Amino acid sequence: MPLSEFEIINHYFNKDRSINSSVITGIGDDAAIVKIPEGNQLAISTDTLVSGIHFPISTEPYDIGYKALAVNISDMAAMGAQPLYATMSITLESSDPDWLHAFSQGFFNIADKYSIDLIGGDVSRGPLSISVQIMGVIPDGEASLRSGARPGDMIYVSGELGMGAFALFSLGQVHEGIDKECLNKLNRPEPRLETGIALRNLSSACIDISDGLNADLSHILSASSVGAEVEIHKVPMFRKLNDLHPRLAINLGLNTGDDYELCFTIQEKYEEELNVISKKLPVKLTKIGKVTDSGYLNWLDENGKAIDMPVRGHRHF
Ligand code: ADP
Ligand code: MG
Repeated sequence: MPLSEFEIINHYFNKDRSINSSVITGIGDDAAIVKIPEGNQLAISTDTLVSGIHFPISTEPYDIGYKALAVNISDMAAMGAQPLYATMSITLESSDPDWLHAFSQGFFNIADKYSIDLIGGDVSRGPLSISVQIMGVIPDGEASLRSGARPGDMIYVSGELGMGAFALFSLGQVHEGIDKECLNKLNRPEPRLETGIALRNLSSACIDISDGLNADLSHILSASSVGAEVEIHKVPMFRKLNDLHPRLAINLGLNTGDDYELCFTIQEKYEEELNVISKKLPVKLTKIGKVTDSGYLNWLDENGKAIDMPVRGHRHF
């Protein structure tokens, strides 16, 4: 007997308890009710994962559940918001109990790790797709927007770029073995929440890298009406990209995405404080360039010569 919609919700998604006491009414009513803590603003974001587009169809259900929430937490990290609640609209081809069990394990594993309550959602039938909406709080006026970068600010990036892209690339190569570490980064990205929250009153602008540094840094620049110079050899790239043709390495490292690292700008006078804070963070922060008033993103090689860079990362349309 296939499971009914009601059974799917109750067996796999309704936890019957909330981690956050600010959840007044969770799953089970027509809408969830939450009490936003005093002095905070609500940050809201949504991201959809479509099978075959955002993850290969061979992806394990546990990983799909994990990633569906991880990419949303990454958006909260970019804003410096503390995620508290999520809703999920899931479209399923069938109601396979094993699949649903593994999927919900992946989802709740990361939800519990970051103390996020699933407070509502929807279940439909059709080609596999998962939309998660995430809600978080941030003290009044402290969000890290894309629009605050100013000429003279320094540009930083967290972690290493290109691991997820390298995993995707390897999956497409018949003779390549898959690097476990990369596959893990692709399927279970660790959102840089601690870093994003630490940057609240420090960074002038911040974004998470979902479409590749080239495209995402460009979003900061256009939102801030500024330009930038980035020294390509300073960008921390996944070591295995060094073995590839330089064009392919640039494509995977800077123009593919699935990194979920943070790129941010910061005024020079705050760099010392940043260095102190960064020692306590679980991820390395690397200075890669500076904001200019040119209006363009200029990539430079070791000799300061301009590099001709393809303009964009992943786009659906
Ligand atoms: P309605 O008919 O009012 O849309 P539903 O029957 O779709 O209500 O859902 C019943 C309850 O279960 C609602 O509180 C809804 O938010 C919740 N819900 C439905 N699908 C999910 C899901 N995938 N994850 C979490 N909660 C869900
Ligand atoms: Mg409904």
